[in-house]
Amino acid sequence: LTYYLEQIKKNEHLNAFNEVFFYSAAAQAEKVQQKIDAGTAGKLAGMVIGIKDNICYLDHEVTASSKMLEGFVSPYSSTVVKRLLEEDAVIIGRLNCDEFAMGGSNETSYFGHVKNAADHSLVAGGSSGGSAVAVQADMCLSSLGTDTGGSVRQPAAFCGQIGLKPTYGRISRYGIIAYASSFDQVGTITSSVTDTALLLEVLAGADENDSTVSPLAVPEYSKHLHQHKKQKIAVLKETIDSDALDPKVKAAILTSIKDLEDKGHTIEYVSFDMLDYLVPAYYILTAAEASSNLSRYDGVHYGHRNTDATSLTELYKKSRAEGFGEEVKRRILLGTFVLSAGYYDAYYQKAQKVRRLIRERMDVLFEDFDLVLSPVAPTTAFKIGDNMQNPLVMYMADIFTVLPSLSGNPAIALPLGNNEDGLPLSIQFIAKHFDEDKLLAFSEEFL
Ligand code: GLN
Repeated sequence: LTYYLEQIKKNEHLNAFNEVFFYSAAAQAEKVQQKIDAGTAGKLAGMVIGIKDNICYLDHEVTASSKMLEGFVSPYSSTVVKRLLEEDAVIIGRLNCDEFAMGGSNETSYFGHVKNAADHSLVAGGSSGGSAVAVQADMCLSSLGTDTGGSVRQPAAFCGQIGLKPTYGRISRYGIIAYASSFDQVGTITSSVTDTALLLEVLAGADENDSTVSPLAVPEYSKHLHQHKKQKIAVLKETIDSDALDPKVKAAILTSIKDLEDKGHTIEYVSFDMLDYLVPAYYILTAAEASSNLSRYDGVHYGHRNTDATSLTELYKKSRAEGFGEEVKRRILLGTFVLSAGYYDAYYQKAQKVRRLIRERMDVLFEDFDLVLSPVAPTTAFKIGDNMQNPLVMYMADIFTVLPSLSGNPAIALPLGNNEDGLPLSIQFIAKHFDEDKLLAFSEEFL
């Protein structure tokens, strides 16, 4: 713990932490030490973990990096926090992120952007930017983020780490501040596949507080990591040929494909003709869900309250106008629009249908293949400020990560080393629903 606290101090300028839990972390570390001495310690004994600042932890502040929730202290712990603590992990602090997890660069945070440790002029990625940089700069061993449309995988990719988004329904969302409930999943950022596997086996599994969690038994992922098998891998042709893909990223992926073939895996290029529909469907559906989820922040039930309103309506309006940042407001407006009478069928329902088709297409693919390969992001980490002026550019950069978010499949971002400018490169593998076992064993071999 002392080591990580020193690292946090040394790297303060990166702005990865919204708060360091000095007291509770020290108390937990002491308790765990006693258990280690007594030989009764849990699976994660002593693992120092940072949590994204949208994950509730009893008696700790949680803000979703929004002014709206500044100062809000959680009255209960999320299921994931409970499970971490039960297995004797030490939670070191809460990590910066985009406001309400809406963003792809950690620049929409009320508490300022996070800097990439590889180059301070570059973004960390988002929305779990703090979670990625904290592991990258060794400020904790691993971290939790949430991934609605890439928020764990893309920052992990930009920071050279391993980012897993499990199958929708594998991990409980109880105590996670909701963005888009039918997409949100807790994910892990780590520097080793063993840590990913250990964390997943602790976090996954049924929870009486979240009925969307699958009752399927949780395998001991960490014990199956060495079961290396030859995989049949589909490369989504349109993703590799996409004009948006940076040539250097493309070159790294092609080299990696060649290595996979040399190792005896079967590679097949398959056509995926739905690429153009991914980003629109994702943003229509997530904005709709967000506009509904965020209606609870009215200055009365929760959140920032304006002090000079003279009527209830004015109180709602002013509190929300002051509490939310620009990107969150944009999503609420977009979401309210696509759900409104007259537009519901044309946008929301249409997007639901597209989502169903995407899911079916993926299911068909997994009848023939073990894994699907694509890039994580079109580029390496970009300059701070570059994409902030144009939300559409920012949204389009999610093109490869939103596919498994729409279909609910598990997906992992794996590091491919650095390019010649020293910037982390990455590749994405997607598996069948609940095939994390296969995905992790493959990842272990791949790295
Ligand atoms: N960039 C995407 C968005 O803004 C993904 C965010 C996320 O996964 N939380 O919606």
